Amino acid sequence: MICVGIEGTAHTIGVGIVDGTGKKCNVLSNIIKIYRPKQGGIHPREAANHHASYVADLIKESAEKAQVDFADIDLVSFSKGPGLGPCLRTAATAARALSLSLDKPIMGVNHCVAHLEIGRGTLDGCKDPVLLYTSGANTQITAFAEGKYRVFGETLDIGIGNCLDKFGRNMGFEFPCGPKIEELARKGKKYLELPYSIKGMDIAFSGLLTAAEQYHKKGQRLEDICYSMQETTFAALTEVTERAMAHTEKNEVLLGGGVASNKRLRNMVQIMAKERDAHFFAPSKDLCIDNGAMIAWLGLLMYNSGIRMKVEDSFIDQRFRTDMVDVSWRD
Ligand code: AMP
Ligand code: MG
Repeated sequence: MICVGIEGTAHTIGVGIVDGTGKKCNVLSNIIKIYRPKQGGIHPREAANHHASYVADLIKESAEKAQVDFADIDLVSFSKGPGLGPCLRTAATAARALSLSLDKPIMGVNHCVAHLEIGRGTLDGCKDPVLLYTSGANTQITAFAEGKYRVFGETLDIGIGNCLDKFGRNMGFEFPCGPKIEELARKGKKYLELPYSIKGMDIAFSGLLTAAEQYHKKGQRLEDICYSMQETTFAALTEVTERAMAHTEKNEVLLGGGVASNKRLRNMVQIMAKERDAHFFAPSKDLCIDNGAMIAWLGLLMYNSGIRMKVEDSFIDQRFRTDMVDVSWRD
């Protein structure tokens, strides 16, 4: 069975095609185009205009790359939420148009759940992980329990990626700023004390962001600030992930989201997993960031478990939470 997935929750418009004929997910193509604001953060309408101008070409390109005829497509999937309204509506509109023109079923899926399922679908041995999902807008620690992906911990304010991007933007770095911060952090020598805000199982980043900016005003080295930001935020994320693993008695940890490309974050989580005798998993970078293949794969899982969606019911949901989804495709 072949599914095309359209991702459009925020800065990225992505189209991926996957084959789910076997038990594992076979990614046939996965193309993305990122909206980069000239200045400031993401403007939802501008991002949506960007997505609208590229989505049709991406669908064609994705089919060519996958060497799939449109007639061979069995299902059209799209990111139903959570995300920015105008961006979600653009991806959903493209999916509806494609579904109607091909006369193939449509499926709206939860973006955060897709980040978890693509790990299970593509990585050998990844069966029941705790997911540490770290992206621009989202930061969540989730795991399967009693029919749902439960949120064990999450950010109380901004996402970790957003924290890094905001700091970087004020320093004049290009969006996305995570890679530049990682590069500078490698040259950091001195740890600067920053707020380590874990409240129960939840994390807050905005106080740390303010403190980091103050260090810059006081003339501290940028390398040391970036190093300290990474060490502090990643330690907090690793701590909550470890506690979720202990609580659920799971021995697999999976990374997802754009910040999971960061070598230091991977390294910290890897050490924690090793110390617990647990397995560490991280999808390839193109499947970690926002992408259409993960949307396609989750659409297939849902469709094959008997879930159906009519075009007239294919609404978007900006506040679509991970734990609102009934995970009927798992035991
Ligand atoms: P996503 O929203 O999942 O597509 O991820 C985008 C976020 O990942 C942005 O906030 C980026 O700054 C961040 N990011 C990308 N690469 C890195 C990296 N190497 N280190 C830290 N953050 C990163
Ligand atoms: Mg994401």
